Amino acid sequence: MASSNAVFLIILVLAAAVFSFSAQRLVRFLRLGQGTHRFDALPRRIVNLLTIGFGQTKILRDPVAGTLHALVFWGFVVLQLGAIEILVAGVVPAFSYADLLPVPVYRLFLLTQDVTSLAVLVAVSVLLYRRLVVKPRRLQGDQVHGGDAILILSLIAALMVTLLLTSGAERVTAARAPAIVQPFAAALAIVLSRMPDSLLSALHGVSWWSHALLILVFLNYLPYSKHLHVIVSLPNTFLSNTSGPGTIGTMKAMDLDAETEQFGASDVTHLSWKNLLDGYACTECGRCTAACPANMTGKPLSPRKIVINTRQRLSEVAPSLVGADDPMSALPMHTGPRDDTDSGARDRRLLDHYITEDELWACTSCRACVYECPVSIDQLEIINELRRNLVLTESRFPEEIQPAFESMERNGTPWAFPASDRAKWAEGLDIPTLAELLERNERADVLYWVGCMGSFDERAQKTTVAFARIMKHAGVRFAILGQEEACHGDPARRMGNEYLYQILAKQAIETLDRYRVTTIVTACPHCFHQIGNEFPQLGGHYEVIHHSTYIEQLLADGRIALADPVAQRLTVAYHDSCYLGRYNAIYDAPREVLRRSLPVVALVEPPRTRDRGLCCGAGGGRMFMEERIGERINVERKKELLATGADAIAVACPFCMTMLADAGKKLDSSVTVLDVAEVVAQHLAEGVTAVPRDVA
Ligand code: SF4
Ligand code: SF4
Repeated sequence: MASSNAVFLIILVLAAAVFSFSAQRLVRFLRLGQGTHRFDALPRRIVNLLTIGFGQTKILRDPVAGTLHALVFWGFVVLQLGAIEILVAGVVPAFSYADLLPVPVYRLFLLTQDVTSLAVLVAVSVLLYRRLVVKPRRLQGDQVHGGDAILILSLIAALMVTLLLTSGAERVTAARAPAIVQPFAAALAIVLSRMPDSLLSALHGVSWWSHALLILVFLNYLPYSKHLHVIVSLPNTFLSNTSGPGTIGTMKAMDLDAETEQFGASDVTHLSWKNLLDGYACTECGRCTAACPANMTGKPLSPRKIVINTRQRLSEVAPSLVGADDPMSALPMHTGPRDDTDSGARDRRLLDHYITEDELWACTSCRACVYECPVSIDQLEIINELRRNLVLTESRFPEEIQPAFESMERNGTPWAFPASDRAKWAEGLDIPTLAELLERNERADVLYWVGCMGSFDERAQKTTVAFARIMKHAGVRFAILGQEEACHGDPARRMGNEYLYQILAKQAIETLDRYRVTTIVTACPHCFHQIGNEFPQLGGHYEVIHHSTYIEQLLADGRIALADPVAQRLTVAYHDSCYLGRYNAIYDAPREVLRRSLPVVALVEPPRTRDRGLCCGAGGGRMFMEERIGERINVERKKELLATGADAIAVACPFCMTMLADAGKKLDSSVTVLDVAEVVAQHLAEGVTAVPRDVA
């Protein structure tokens, strides 16, 4: 073995040892988190890995920056093969894939390496230009490690330059394939061939060694850089429960029977290892924060900061907890909001020292952050766990939500209405309760779950009645629970009161099971999501259909006879509810209902629509809290909707209805807000008999 090969072998072994130490250290830190099972639903996980991970589908939602990042990622994957050949050849100079692979396969390998290295070089050059000159807003602030990003991009650029130079110099002395297989190396070889042999040989030596050493430096810097995501993003996507179809948006249930005094999380050791892995996976791209309604209206919340702070806190406290001798913890990416007056890492915690109450209570649980994250991070889960700790462990929450908690406990609704008023909206409408049907030995096709807003709120009651009229018109045999219906607890759960939630949810399940309910329709996306997606955690399994989907089906089945369309052409802007859209991927049904029920309607879309729709500001319990900081989210959304020039705004959620109607008063706007059911009910052809058929 030549001395240079022996030296390289020593460097390689040392680099591998340091990387192994760093990797084990990170794994030990992750193990400080709580257990969570992430190996179920394998087919979905594999699909997520292939589409979101390798396919980069989420990152490509931003066409320009997304394409550049996807190019770098795909290049990274492709160039791994070449890197292995280079590292092995550093020890065994005769090693070459040329001796192992059939000629066509080897030529394909050379072609991919050549084209990819130039493509990556171009992409990182543009990304560097963006960071240094354009400076997009979403890449600033929130303790973003901009210097780290520039260092890594420069390292990648240097890797590509040295790779191209090495290939070009090698082609001058020994071309292993026709020029067409290595077009860029061949072009470079034409230039380099004019050099004297000694200079060319020196250039080859320098570029080869620089490239090989840069690979090893890059590998060992990653564990201490925000670019650790280069390694972690694929496993993180595979282990995520929040991406792709399936149980999207479902909130984790808490075991309240466990013998613990700690509910939720106040520090990183209370979070799951997956929450901690999210910190390693974060690219600091800011897509989440740019989509966050709280952040864009001036609240202190930034979902990116939540994730970065989680990583910083872990890096700060983990070395002392695992007993590691950890000199690396002083590196810049690990520094959080340290306080010199504090005695040490163990005196601080994630809550208060890194993440404040104001940040946590600003969240509307709209899920835009989770949806936008290109590496499938669940920022919302961390927020929810910290809220649970605030409410259940420390009794710290905004005082205005106390009445909502008390009312849910006493009256079975977040508002101070007596349960006896729950079915007042139905008086005189001849709508039976399940109890009455049972007495008459009759049955209903579906249970109409009205929800608290639909039962008590004067404006929402109009939607409730409209949907009941539609079902009657279509001959649907439905019933309500009447006074036996009570809040399912979703607002309590979103506000961190898991204890109250589970009491209410179990009571609701007990009521539903007593009547052997199988199919439920509801006009409230929060009821729809909670009963359909989260009740199964507590043993309640029902088919739940949102009224927009149900009405669409009735229309498609010809069970709704509509009067002649109005002569005037009406433009309607539809506002997507977060719990219908991002939580449950229902975007088309409400639009289809509008199109079918008003044939002359023109549907217009605001700029932020469908899965990019802007929240109305009511979710996550924000409905019960004052919005004291920044602009009002509902007003911002209403402005966007009004800017479409629509004659009316359509919604499919009573919470959105209230928020947008309130915003209309603040903006002095006379544009009506209507529920999709009201649009249909207004155009029912009275007296025309519908075809009775069981669609439930
Ligand atoms: S769920 Fe919505 S409001 Fe909450 S942090 Fe994410 S984007 Fe912001
Ligand atoms: S959490 Fe996701 S979207 Fe937000 S900055 Fe990190 S990688 Fe980007």
